[in-house]
Amino acid sequence: MNTEAIKGIDKEIESIFFPLVKVKSDTYTAYEKDAEAFIADFFRRLDYFKEHKDQHGTYAIKEDILGREVCWGLVKGIGDDTIVLMNHHDVVDIEDFKTLKDYAYSPEELESQLMKMKKDLSPEAREDLESGDYIFGRGTADMKAGAAIQLSLMKKYSTMKNLKGNILFLSVPDEENMSAGMRSTIELLDALKQKFHLRYLITINSEPHQRVEKEIGIISQGSVGKMMPFVYVRGSLSHVGKVFEGFNPISLLSWIINKTNLNLELSDFILDEASPPPTWLCVRDSKTHYDVSMPLSAYGYMSVHTLNKEPAAILDIIRSMCYEAFSQLIEDMNNKYKVFRERKNKTFEALPWKPKVVTYKELYDEAYNNHGDKFLKHYKRILEEARLKVESGEKSIVDINFYLVENIYNYIDDLAPRVVIGLAPPYYPNVSNINIKNLEDRCKNLYSKIAEYTMENFQQSYVNEYFFTGISDLSYTFMEKADEVVKSLEDYMPLYGFLYKIPLDKIQNISMPCLNIGPWGKDFHKLTERVLKEDLFNRTPKIIDHVISILLV
Ligand SMILES: [Zn+2]
Repeated sequence: MNTEAIKGIDKEIESIFFPLVKVKSDTYTAYEKDAEAFIADFFRRLDYFKEHKDQHGTYAIKEDILGREVCWGLVKGIGDDTIVLMNHHDVVDIEDFKTLKDYAYSPEELESQLMKMKKDLSPEAREDLESGDYIFGRGTADMKAGAAIQLSLMKKYSTMKNLKGNILFLSVPDEENMSAGMRSTIELLDALKQKFHLRYLITINSEPHQRVEKEIGIISQGSVGKMMPFVYVRGSLSHVGKVFEGFNPISLLSWIINKTNLNLELSDFILDEASPPPTWLCVRDSKTHYDVSMPLSAYGYMSVHTLNKEPAAILDIIRSMCYEAFSQLIEDMNNKYKVFRERKNKTFEALPWKPKVVTYKELYDEAYNNHGDKFLKHYKRILEEARLKVESGEKSIVDINFYLVENIYNYIDDLAPRVVIGLAPPYYPNVSNINIKNLEDRCKNLYSKIAEYTMENFQQSYVNEYFFTGISDLSYTFMEKADEVVKSLEDYMPLYGFLYKIPLDKIQNISMPCLNIGPWGKDFHKLTERVLKEDLFNRTPKIIDHVISILLV
């Protein structure tokens, strides 16, 4: 441990944490900029950065309608080895606070308000409130605690003589939304690497962790991946009185949902960790008003989490599940149609439907093959319209995919029912140190070194997880086969490179292992969000400092 660095850190953290919590910085709002101003100002006032003006600053997110920025600061020591300390400064909104909204960012006042209504809280929240061991408030756990710990460590390191290696601090906006901050930060990391000859050793994030047992903490050496496959079903219209003449897209989409929802084939397993199976987040149809026809199309999207599968593998599985559902539904329809005909004493002839599943790219190519440049010209215009719809908030970045598919359909000649699959943003690659083949020796077994330290110093054991399951920006710290992933995003994600950008090749340039060490917190994103004081002021900063001291040798 760098005793020099850690001395008095509790007071330091306190002086940063409460003012930082007080700065409202709800995700995907202009308020995030207030937290950015706070952090930029923090660096500006430190003596070290007054002397090294080019070693801190803000980095604007490209094409961001809110004008948000990433805050960074670099303490340079001896050598090229660099540890990245990463956090996010946005927080989720306070809808959950209802009548207590005015106190959401003021822990002390919130505490006395919660005391007045403590009988309405869960027994655990009530007990924690009465114990005085926790700080309540929006962002206290997720993750202004981690940000304050990292800022105070930066201040300490900036005063140290003969620091081995370099410490780069990054605070990003939009983590709770689409990670626009982190996706831009990749370019900043790449630029800083060249400018200051940095050799990135590891990224340490300080998201809060949750515990099952009181005395057992958790560190993560990776982060679960996430993607959002969408399914669009084109049916065939008919009057509701002539159901067998039409093809109801809602019916097929329901079969597909049934087949995929919670399907463990779409959940990865590594050692004794598993990614949660997929679930559907939204389903709609294209009807805008009541009439006596079936809808022409129906669509929806699901969230799939991964530990080691890439987008192409997931979409392949989904494609075959859609095909299977399609075939089963046709069989089911035929069975019913047969009985229906028999009841009417009529002959039966199988219905004309055939299963067909294509990717977004295949549908696009078909439209191009049908109509060539005329289609391209139209599609370009549609993309611009799509941009305006997203920017004005008329459509979400997910829903806009269906708008694109529907518009491509104006150029499709084969109007038989079919399924179109693709990917909607966001995309979070799975990362884990366990998947890194040539991990440096000093980054190996970090977990046992940490556990040994915490046992000795705090009589607390820490367990390891290879994947942080809460989705985090750590996803963008490592990439091995950027070409392959780029190819599948180009094939499946209509918005890739247009309204949604991830510089995957640059991730490959800055690739490094990762670690999450954060304080114990509870009820993130809820009214009773809270962080454990002991972790915030004492244990977590010491653990991070210890890891840094064993890595920078
Ligand atoms: Zn967070």
